[in-house]
Amino acid sequence: MRRYSYSKISTYLRCPRLYRLRYEDRLEPERLSLALPLGSAMHDCLQWEVAERGRGREVGAGEIHEVFRALLMARLEIAGCPVSGEPEEASETGRRMIEAYIAWGRLQDIATIEGEHLAPIDEGIELEGRIDFVRDGEEVEILELKTAARAWSQSQADLNLQAACYSLLTGIEKVRFIVLTKTKSPKVQEILTSCSWERLDLLRDTIREVDAAIRARSFPRNVSPMNCAGCEFRDQCLGTLACVGAADTDMRHSA
Ligand code: SF4
Repeated sequence: MRRYSYSKISTYLRCPRLYRLRYEDRLEPERLSLALPLGSAMHDCLQWEVAERGRGREVGAGEIHEVFRALLMARLEIAGCPVSGEPEEASETGRRMIEAYIAWGRLQDIATIEGEHLAPIDEGIELEGRIDFVRDGEEVEILELKTAARAWSQSQADLNLQAACYSLLTGIEKVRFIVLTKTKSPKVQEILTSCSWERLDLLRDTIREVDAAIRARSFPRNVSPMNCAGCEFRDQCLGTLACVGAADTDMRHSA
């Protein structure tokens, strides 16, 4: 059985070579951006916060920040490579995000946290995923928590591959993104999107195409400033090529 997650599908679509280095060759990253440990520490911290309230215990801003900070530092310790950015600044950003989250009113009516799901796509192909939260309020919705450098647009949510993956995995049409911005004055933004059957059919086709390309061992580089500037395998992939902005490098390095 070949199993794909949202992360694997989106990585292949971004850059097939990155998919190979990360998931097939399983190389250790050369570098990481602090945005990654910050985002995953915030995810785990707010899942903990929701679970504590579910057990009937109210937790205040100070305690939530202590947990966030401990999770962030643990992630930095196990990173195993240089991480760009200042941990103390990230901790302070996290503190402001937690304050914004509390002022917004916290996540409510949560039925499940980090539920695991599996959906058949075709003979021998499955989609797998863990869903942050499912809310069982007036309507059942998937809630997906995001930390972002800036606010999202509606079209960003409507075209989001992750929303479609989660909808396909659960059969729940509505996905609400809860976006916590990492700005100087963080905000919490809610954006609702709905995944139609047509959108899910399109996703099934995309997964089949990615599966076929991976089985054909097709892993070309997709060189672009947007893809490569923060890539954790840039040195191994591009060597001494200093300028990743030149479009023609794509072809010269796509062997
Ligand atoms: S450096 Fe660029 S082309 Fe190479 S794996 Fe990373 S994103 Fe892909």
